[in-house]
This record gives sequence, C-alpha cells and structure tokens, in this order.
Amino acid sequence: MKSPVPDYLTEILDACGGDAGALAGYIPELASADPDRLAVCLSTIDGKLYRAGDSGTEFSIQSISKPFVYALALADHGLDDVLERIGVEPSGEAFNELSLERDSRRPRNPMINAGALTAHALVGDPGDDVDTRVERVRRLMSDFAGRELHVDRRIYESEMSQAYRNLAIANMLRSYGVIGQDPRDVVRGYTQQCAISVTSSDLATMAATLATGGVQPTTGKQVVPEKVARQVLSVMMTCGMYDAAGDWMTTVGFPAKSGVSGGILGALPGQLGMAVFSPRLDSHGNSTRGVRICTRMSADMGLHIMQAPEPARSTVRRDRTLRGPDGSLARVCSLQGSMQFSSVERVVRTVTDGLPIALFVLDLRRVSSVNDVARRMLAEIVRRLQLDGAEVALLDPDHVLPLSEQAVVRLPERWSSLAPLEGYERV
Ligand code: GLU
Repeated sequence: MKSPVPDYLTEILDACGGDAGALAGYIPELASADPDRLAVCLSTIDGKLYRAGDSGTEFSIQSISKPFVYALALADHGLDDVLERIGVEPSGEAFNELSLERDSRRPRNPMINAGALTAHALVGDPGDDVDTRVERVRRLMSDFAGRELHVDRRIYESEMSQAYRNLAIANMLRSYGVIGQDPRDVVRGYTQQCAISVTSSDLATMAATLATGGVQPTTGKQVVPEKVARQVLSVMMTCGMYDAAGDWMTTVGFPAKSGVSGGILGALPGQLGMAVFSPRLDSHGNSTRGVRICTRMSADMGLHIMQAPEPARSTVRRDRTLRGPDGSLARVCSLQGSMQFSSVERVVRTVTDGLPIALFVLDLRRVSSVNDVARRMLAEIVRRLQLDGAEVALLDPDHVLPLSEQAVVRLPERWSSLAPLEGYERV
C-alpha cells in the first residue's frame, strides 16, 4: 500500500498556493531567490521523513539558526548564566531593533538580533576566534540535521556588504558590556551562522530533534540535553514568529521559528518536526504560504499544543474489588497508556476511597510510559499500602515501573490477573 502522508502533503501544497508577499530585499542574494519555490516536510520522532515539493532546494537558514545557537550557548554555560545575559520575554519590536531591557540591559530574547548576536558571542570561550565559533555552530547544526552542513559564502558576503544594522546592534551590545568581543567579529560569526545552507528536509529533521528532547532521530545522538531543548522550544513558542507570535500561538499553536529566506521550522514536542519553505514574506517577515500551510496542517492534524489531551480517566482501564474466601478484600487495578500526574491521581483515588485492602494487584501490562512524577507517586502508593499491611503485586513484565528497592511481588508475565485470585468473588 502507498502511504497517504505524501499525498496529503502534496494536496496541502496545491491548496495553499498563491503568490502574495515579497522577497526579503535587504540581503541582495535573497532578493534574487526564486520566489516560486515551495516545499513542506514532516519528520516523525523516529526519523521517518515525508516530503513534498522542492524539499531538496538549499537556502540559507537565516534566523532559524537562532534557536540552535541559543541551545549551544545554554549547553556551554547553563541556564542561569545565559539568563543573566539574554531575557526570555517577547519584545513586540522588529527583529533588528536596537533595544535592550531597561533595567537589566539584557536583549529581550534570543530570537531577535540583539539576543541572537549575544548568544553567538557566548558560544565556546570568550577568547575563541570567529572561525572557531562558527565551526562549533556549524558542527552543532550538522548534528541536529544528521548530515554535514556548510556556510554559503555568497550569501555571507552578500549580507556582510549590507550589515550596517547588525553592526550597530553589536556596537550597542559592546558599549553596554553585554558582549566582550570585537563587535565586527561577532557580526562576522553571526552572519556566517545565518548563511548556513539547509533544505526543508534538514529543517524538519532538526525540528524533530528538538521535539524528542534533543535526541537526533536517525543517528540517536543526544545533541543537546533535554532541558536545553525544552528551554529552546519555550522561547520559540513565545518569540519565534517575529511580531506575529500571538497570532501564531492562537491559530497554529506549536513552537516555531521563521527566517527571512522563507523557511519556517515547527516542532510539536513528543510528536513531530516539520518545515516549510516559500520565499515570499508577509508584512511580519514570515513566509506567506508557509504560514498558510502550517495553519492548515495544524487544523487538519490536530497539532495545536493547547488542544486538551486524552482525559486522564481513560488511563484506568479496569478497577475491580474482589472478596476472598476468608472475607479479605483484593483490588485489581489495570492501567493503560502514558502515566503522568493526572492519570496516577486517579489510581490514588481508587485506593484511598474504599475499604481496607489485603491484596493490591497493579496491572501495568498496557502502560506505554511512566513519567517521573507518576513513577514517584506509584512507588508511594505501593509503600503506603504496604505500611497499611497490604500485600502488593505488580503485573509489569516490561518493567515500566522500576521499583527495585520495594518488596513487591512481581507476577509472572503470562499470569492472567485473576488466576491467583481463585475463590475470590466480585464485590
Ligand atoms: N541574517 C539576518 C539578519 O540578521 C537574519 C534575519 C532573519 O532571518 O530574521 O538580518
């Protein structure tokens, strides 16, 4: 059977056509790009890549490099140090505004140029030269993409020939002591970072790496720590789409970053990464067709991050109370799906609401994952039941609940949850 996903993506491209918008004019090489190029790519978090349109066309990454270099600065220096230098508040200003927070003198966030230049300057050691910093950035982005990326020298030279605004921003940063290096070197490095060449397939894969918590889906490499990926996605959510971030949040609803060359990268944590490419830009500087495509995909595929997830009650599959021949009570609680706070809270309620239990059987055979708080809560339930004198038995052949220190009975894999309860009757 042929997969319906590529057909769906092609259909989206056909439906979201039109030629509204203009090419970015302030970088000469971008002004001569082919305005009709159009691509959409989607990467699952296990690395399956779906593409449609001009998915092999290379273009300069531009501002979409900002989240990745912010990630590198965070990985190099830790969150507290980076927060001292760069804020996380949406600015509501143009991306290339010469502005700093009034009291702290920090750039407002790492997605505007002031913050991105600062993040670039933070990479590695303060004494590193331009080439060393650029090479580290190129290396990290290649790790995200799972292939070697390179700097497009033509784009770099072209942007440098007109980089007056970024030089002004870097000089402002230097004058306030936000960066310590020569402002010209920081702009040279940052402009090369923006001139790294990517395809929309690369961007979808890079997005999927953020969506998995920093693990590149095809190489399996932990490219940045999970906490760094979360921080980056959070800032993308509030500041990633220039001054249309509020519109984007309410209509499309997943973390994204766009760039003046016409790319948009989007990541839905735990689910997928995606990218679109179409060079004509709207009045906010976002790809016109790109925004249309993302809006449509979010609606079709239910990708809005604020969409309420499965209700927790569906995670308690069955909950039975049985009475044994000696009159003592047994409780058999079967769970399914992913365990998090709200689902385990349902279990807490089932065991605290009733009569004293002599035997508690926790059936986890259909549980797919247990997050940290759920694991701690389940362990605590087991401990408290045991303190109350109950015997606890786990049906957990896949060890989704590691309770090595607990004296629980692990029931054999093939055990039907009712077999040792022979003689028991439903209450
Ligand atoms: N290199 C571009 C600049 O700094 C990136 C801008 C963007 O993509 O938003 O002006």
